Amino acid sequence: MRRSNADTEAIRRAAELAADFLETLDARSVAAASDAGSLRAALGGPLPVEGEDPVAVIERLARDADPGLVATAGPRYFGFVIGGHHPAALAADWLTSAWDQNPGLHVAGPALSIVEETAGGWMLDLLGLPPAASHGFVTGGMMANFTAIAAARHALLERAGWDVERQGLYGAPVLDVVIGAEAHATIRTALQYLGLGRERVHVVPNDGQGRMRVDGLAAVLAACRGPVLVCAQAGNVNTGAFDPFEAIADLVRARENAWLHVDGAFGLWAAASPRFAGLVAGVERADSWATDAHKWLNVPYDCGFAATADPAAHRAAMSITAAYLVQDTGERDGMDWTPESSRRARGVPVYAVLRALGRDGVREIIERCCDVAARMAARLRDAPGVTVLNDVVLDQVLVRFAAPSESDAAADARTRAVIAAVQRDGTCWLGGTTWHGLAAMRISVVNWATTIEDGDRSVDAILAAARGVETAR
Ligand SMILES: *Cc1c(COP(=O)(O)O)cnc(C)c1O
Repeated sequence: MRRSNADTEAIRRAAELAADFLETLDARSVAAASDAGSLRAALGGPLPVEGEDPVAVIERLARDADPGLVATAGPRYFGFVIGGHHPAALAADWLTSAWDQNPGLHVAGPALSIVEETAGGWMLDLLGLPPAASHGFVTGGMMANFTAIAAARHALLERAGWDVERQGLYGAPVLDVVIGAEAHATIRTALQYLGLGRERVHVVPNDGQGRMRVDGLAAVLAACRGPVLVCAQAGNVNTGAFDPFEAIADLVRARENAWLHVDGAFGLWAAASPRFAGLVAGVERADSWATDAHKWLNVPYDCGFAATADPAAHRAAMSITAAYLVQDTGERDGMDWTPESSRRARGVPVYAVLRALGRDGVREIIERCCDVAARMAARLRDAPGVTVLNDVVLDQVLVRFAAPSESDAAADARTRAVIAAVQRDGTCWLGGTTWHGLAAMRISVVNWATTIEDGDRSVDAILAAARGVETAR
């Protein structure tokens, strides 16, 4: 079929509608305005029998989805740990879709294979990781953990005389897996996918900020007999705290057959700023690293990054074999480094944003986000009845609301009521968590566009919500 003018028109119209949406980001309610029932009424229904004009489809989709959109890409979304999208990254993402290349094989998309190879090298440089490390662009932090731990599983078992890719885990030497008490949930999920078991782990106690305790790790390691995988963390999802990598690396390196993995989905980005790089000192001594580009680097979904200091293990764990896949170009095939065979070239937006920002621009975003978090924490801490629970070392702030001599249970309920009121108000959006048994509001500042003024407006809205909850009681 020939491509018609109407098809090209749909693309131009989508670009206009996207630009219109982006212009609403600063002013619209950060929370979705519509509920699931109305959205289903507008977007659901039976499969159409006859097709529609692409322009009409795009216009209708934009109209019907709009009330259910959350302004996660905007500057006052502080929920979970969710970045926005830098304009260069978003634009490059559209081109990536238009080109429709498959960088799984060099021959299927040589230009984008080279772009990804370059972007991967830039990522290693920016994050202070060894330049010879292997890397792959995966869907997110979870699959980055999966990919890196698969490489670890290969290396540890190979050194113990076992080929896990060929034989599986039946009859294999036993691996001891060690994680921190506040490891991100996706570490356990990666272990689950890899047959290592989400519960079959040694858990090292954490300190009051959620960092792995070195004495606890030493005690756990002393009791391990076989090959050991230790998973440490750069950036606790609640507090932003970092495990002490130098001390952890000393303990892991003292063992014969051990692998140190670091989950740094957002925290690894501290390396891009001299002000915060001290937090990740020693992280380069690990064997593998996982991070996200769709968090602090602000590329659109989806884009995670797995890197290892053992390219042979990484490749052995991931590569696919089939006669028709052997192309012998002598070039890098993406499918050797990620769990997918075919995939989109998600490294391209990374390439574009790194060119647009440069090293200085990335540093500026990290530092500005942390400045906003610090100022929000300081203003909240000064307000009566408000406590900041964590040491604000990076971009994460935990806030609790309590009236004088209120019980813990009443303060939990108050804190949850304030969070709900902030979400309803729509100036900003943030979620809740339970931190060491206490309900807390959780603020995460990782959007490239967030300013000090956005932080101030949001603190005003949070304090107004807290006063509203006070009067309602
Ligand atoms: C977000 C996050 C993950 C998971 O990343 P996804 O991109 O959601 O898969 C893993 N670890 C940490 C520390 C995170 O913050």
